[in-house]
Amino acid sequence: MFSMDLIQFQRLFNKEPRYRLEQAKKALFHDLIQNWQEAATLPLSLREELNKKWPIEISAKTFVSKDKNTTKVLLTLKDGLKIETVLMCHKDKRNTICVSSQVGCYLNCSFCATGKIGFERNLEVWEIVEQVLFFARYLKKIKEKVTNIVFMGMGEPFLNYQNVIGAIKILNDKEGFNLGARHFSISTVGIVDGIEKLAKEELQINLAISLHAPNDELRSKLMPINKKYPIKKILNAADDYIKKTRRRVMFEYIMIKNLNDSEEHAKTLAGLMKKPLYFVNLISYNPTGIFKPSFSLRIKKFKEILEKKGVMVTQRYRFGEDIEAACGQLVAKDGRK
Ligand code: SAH
Repeated sequence: MFSMDLIQFQRLFNKEPRYRLEQAKKALFHDLIQNWQEAATLPLSLREELNKKWPIEISAKTFVSKDKNTTKVLLTLKDGLKIETVLMCHKDKRNTICVSSQVGCYLNCSFCATGKIGFERNLEVWEIVEQVLFFARYLKKIKEKVTNIVFMGMGEPFLNYQNVIGAIKILNDKEGFNLGARHFSISTVGIVDGIEKLAKEELQINLAISLHAPNDELRSKLMPINKKYPIKKILNAADDYIKKTRRRVMFEYIMIKNLNDSEEHAKTLAGLMKKPLYFVNLISYNPTGIFKPSFSLRIKKFKEILEKKGVMVTQRYRFGEDIEAACGQLVAKDGRK
């Protein structure tokens, strides 16, 4: 993995004619080369220099689910730490990459496996970009492309705000990877200053907020960060975000058996969520230890209550449970060195 930042990458081209950087970006992000030797438009000496100073091979171990729709990759970082990234191939031809933003996480939500391994460090811009490049190369072999990128892997993206936005800008860059802003989603536990900053970015990316409980008492039990950012503060930030951007906000709600899935919970949630441009995404809880997932009948009922009250609601399809690649199951097993 790279140890340098992208500005340093650009510096490698300081002595070159202007078009060289463009050629290199095209080779890297469009042709998806795996080694600079493959960059036929660049002179041999430059290719050799790039291979030395900015190697682009990615060493990884992949796991494919039985139904073949999910692929998880374990990437080793330059300091030996490990992260996981997931590719989900949808039936409608979307290929979504679920990227990590941190090694581990210190928010310790009770239902999420990532929190259990603690926090190691933030990922660098390039370490985020590489997760996408890995799968872009992987998909190219079967003549497919990355169509969506979601920051729903390990870590809290808004606690690594600058590097997450930096990576999005590289991947969104027309001269580079050129994936449209609307194809990116950031999921947050509700870090209010992150939501406020994003509202000012003028980037048309999607915002998702992990709510998971309709009242502060329960939410604080599930997500300790709720004490700092309680529901009201988060919803105020979401309202401001909508006012500024006119974009929809997704509220994620994991369905945990006998914990947050009663009719009462549904009614309280409906009261909070009945607003234009809000929508709820119900997620079946993926087992990580202590809780059990709600029965599907319960989820159906819960969904009906929300719908009857006029709340927009969707349900998330579960991917890759058998390879521990589903939401909240990412731990990069031999995560530490
Ligand atoms: N820290 C960010 C992004 C990572 S988690 C956040 O929390 O939003 C991405 C999504 O997976 C979040 O909605 C998270 O709450 C959810 N998730 C975590 N553990 C889960 C589990 N065991 N089952 C289902 N979803 C889970």
